[in-house]
Amino acid sequence: MKNIVILGSTGSIGVNALDVVERNGGRFNVVGLAAGSNLPLLLEQINKFSPSKVALYDSSLAKELREILSGKKIEVLSGIEGIIEVAAMEQGDLVLSAIVGAAGLLPTYSAIKSGKDVALANKESLVMAGAIMMAEAKRSGAKIIPVDSEHSAIFQALNGDVKKKNVKRLIITGSGGPFRGCSADRLNEVTVAEALRHPNWSMGKKISIDSATMMNKGFEMIEARWLFDLEPGKIDILIHPQSIVHSMVEFVDTSIIAQLGIPDMRLPISYALNYPDRIDVSLPSLNLEEITPLTFEKPDTDIFPSIKFAYQAISKGDTYPAVLNAANEVAVQAFISGEIRFPDIPVVIEETISAHNPFKVKNISDILRADKWGIKKGRAVKEGLVRKGS
Ligand code: NAD
Ligand code: MG
Repeated sequence: MKNIVILGSTGSIGVNALDVVERNGGRFNVVGLAAGSNLPLLLEQINKFSPSKVALYDSSLAKELREILSGKKIEVLSGIEGIIEVAAMEQGDLVLSAIVGAAGLLPTYSAIKSGKDVALANKESLVMAGAIMMAEAKRSGAKIIPVDSEHSAIFQALNGDVKKKNVKRLIITGSGGPFRGCSADRLNEVTVAEALRHPNWSMGKKISIDSATMMNKGFEMIEARWLFDLEPGKIDILIHPQSIVHSMVEFVDTSIIAQLGIPDMRLPISYALNYPDRIDVSLPSLNLEEITPLTFEKPDTDIFPSIKFAYQAISKGDTYPAVLNAANEVAVQAFISGEIRFPDIPVVIEETISAHNPFKVKNISDILRADKWGIKKGRAVKEGLVRKGS
């Protein structure tokens, strides 16, 4: 039995992961849970899975939870320190990192530093600090197993054995999001509700907007760069609207290996939790004779420039990717709250990045400093747009 810790247990990935745990009948023991502020759902999960340590980021809600659970054998922690502690808890064998955004950086780092196996959904931690995370994993012996469906597909295609010299390129597929094929004029009009409505996947708000701008694919390219230690020039992005082929590896002999499956995150989650085993978690089979033809096309990076920003940021290196992530978080948040329009998202990102004076990254504090700078600058750019628009 594996002792599992779930960071971001109340989110889309977290909830799916707990469903996978239940479908695995006794293979996992949930020892730790952490979430941001969804007290009712966390409480429900505590009652069902009986972890020994939990953390809520919001400290007043954590206090409330402590009162509700008084007399029970469970430790309730709060704030970022509490989440970091749950990530590294002694009892944990495997940590699912599924907090959204930069908030997942330190908890993921904490799990890696303490040598846990890490099932990684929080792609932003690799976007911001890939070199540091991978170096720390090497030092501590932590195994990082991808949860993101594309990286899970590549990991499976490589059969866990990354022989760099055999790989010609990775092909990351993406549905193209809700606005695939749309004109720039159409993008001017899109509402938050439309942008949140992904054609094939049901996900949290932030990644849904990232999918609509295609920044999600840019982030996935950076994530792959670190997970598989390949130059960005060897990582391509292809639009595949059916979301059946979850990504591919082309080898030097031109052979291509792909992984196919229904678009359901429980599949890559289950693979990551059970790796190197595979368990039947009763998901519906892919009905090959019923699926529509599978198509592939190049992404339109003029309409979706975020992909270009990601390639530029990773090739420039240093603190650029962390600033890319920070500017994106500011812009996405501002779009969701109705402050800016959809096409303003790449504007905030581009202006923030071009104003950045990069510095060398020696440790995680440097990343935090770059993140802080990116948030401040991104907000200033956003305010400028709000003033202009009003
Ligand atoms: P979500 O918004 O549904 O859930 C986010 C979780 O993080 C929640 O449990 C929330 O409480 C927690 N959280 C937010 N802020 C926090 C904070 N400051 N401290 C502690 N916890 C905090 O997001 P999601 O869709 O589940 O995505 C989670 C991560 O997984 C993201 O990095 C995303 O890119 C990645 N991912 C998601 C999917 C998907 O299908 N949803 C697929 C691939 C990768
Ligand atoms: Mg993905």
